[in-house]
Amino acid sequence: MMSTIIYWFRNDLRLADNPAFARACAEASQLVPIYIHQDATEEFSRWDFPRMGRHRKQFLKQALHELKHQLGAHGASLLEFHGRPEDIFSVLRDQTQSDLIYCEQIEAPEEIAQVDHIRKMGFTITSFWQSSMLDPKELPFALQNMPDVFTKFRQDIERQGLSHAKPAELLRPIPPVPLLNLELHQEKNTSPDQSGLFRGGEISALEHIKQYFDRGLVDSYKQTRNQLMGMDFSSKFSPWLASGCCSSRVIAEQLRSYESMHGANEGTYWLWFELLWRDYFRFLHFKYGASLYVPKGLSDKPVNIFDQKKFLQWSSGQTGEALIDAGMRELSETGFLSNRLRQVVASYWIYDMNGDWRAGAAWFESQLIDYDVYSNQGNWLYIAGRGTDPRGGRPFNVWKQTQDHDPDGIYRAKWLGISSD
Ligand SMILES: Cc1cc2nc3c(=O)[nH]c(=O)nc-3n(C[C@H](O)[C@H](O)[C@H](O)COP(=O)(O)OP(=O)(O)OC[C@H]3O[C@@H](n4cnc5c(N)ncnc54)[C@H](O)[C@@H]3O)c2cc1C
Repeated sequence: MMSTIIYWFRNDLRLADNPAFARACAEASQLVPIYIHQDATEEFSRWDFPRMGRHRKQFLKQALHELKHQLGAHGASLLEFHGRPEDIFSVLRDQTQSDLIYCEQIEAPEEIAQVDHIRKMGFTITSFWQSSMLDPKELPFALQNMPDVFTKFRQDIERQGLSHAKPAELLRPIPPVPLLNLELHQEKNTSPDQSGLFRGGEISALEHIKQYFDRGLVDSYKQTRNQLMGMDFSSKFSPWLASGCCSSRVIAEQLRSYESMHGANEGTYWLWFELLWRDYFRFLHFKYGASLYVPKGLSDKPVNIFDQKKFLQWSSGQTGEALIDAGMRELSETGFLSNRLRQVVASYWIYDMNGDWRAGAAWFESQLIDYDVYSNQGNWLYIAGRGTDPRGGRPFNVWKQTQDHDPDGIYRAKWLGISSD
């Protein structure tokens, strides 16, 4: 029997290759697509700064604007709400007489608790795992027994010849939205500011991916990926991946098609390799769950005591260590930082300033335009030696990193506002 389904967009702000949304469209006679700006993410972290900073907010606003536009082109719409999901769903149940919710599955403790809570209120939530490049069902091991070490994880997959899951077929027609009286609860609809390093949204994501491959940038990816400056040294797919404006399967599909036209090379292999890291941190959540979120992580090392003064020096780029300060200022000003500098500033906070790694991770959550719960937690645990890495931590030598990656001081000069001569 067909029924009214509420589709809850979470970190999947797209129509293409969105199996959860496609299923909802196939199974509903009426569909209510919604997005909830949640009170919890609008709050301050325990270290006293907003959980979601201005760059991610703006990117999100742009992404929702595009999603609304995309849905509109199919005769549908997107209802944006502000509040606690449980309250919003109660209002929607009153209005639609439906307690059916479809959404993507997010396997992190806060998001799991939220879904559990809503289920306990009598809703039927059907959630779909869809944010990895590989299909978990195809893996050569059960997720609960996945290899702890990345290299073994990768080798097992490559030995099996496992490729990305095929992107889902294009959309069916989107069922109509029922008549609702929700004006009071809805987010005011204003056009987003279009400035910023990246523009959020599915159309922008697909255009960016196309440009990246059309320009052949992937060929030099392995050589350039550790650089610090510019738009082209790495793919910059992460902001769109994090909010789900595109899927990693669509990227992998384009990567394979690029290889079949131009040949595989070190660059194309390395991009696949990095996308595997993304999956690896996702899958680790199925194995270790909430234990990745306790203060000690998977280790038994005590946690450093939090020092507010030192934290302010680090987070505002005023440590006196030029490379760190330049990186932290770039992060605050743009919402982005190269992978190399993310590693170096995280290491500096943990090992040189004896900082509490959780405050560092929370600062990245606040600042990064591409904040992704799995990748952020996974990488911080890895650097802090509290994850599954047998090396027990990854301290970086700032002097060496400076010599290797900014020998002429151009990067430091740009962000510290000084001449590099
Ligand atoms: C302390 C720390 C925190 C991080 N927090 C995040 C985060 O919140 N969100 C996020 O997307 N990435 C995070 N990363 C991983 C990585 O730095 C970014 O994915 C990458 O810099 C994004 O730029 P890009 O898209 O140009 O990457 P590219 O180098 O072009 O890589 C292509 C894609 O591969 C994936 N990828 C690459 N490196 C990693 C990695 N180490 N871990 C997981 N996936 C990877 C990303 O999806 C990326 O978009 C973090 C790394 C560190 C060291």
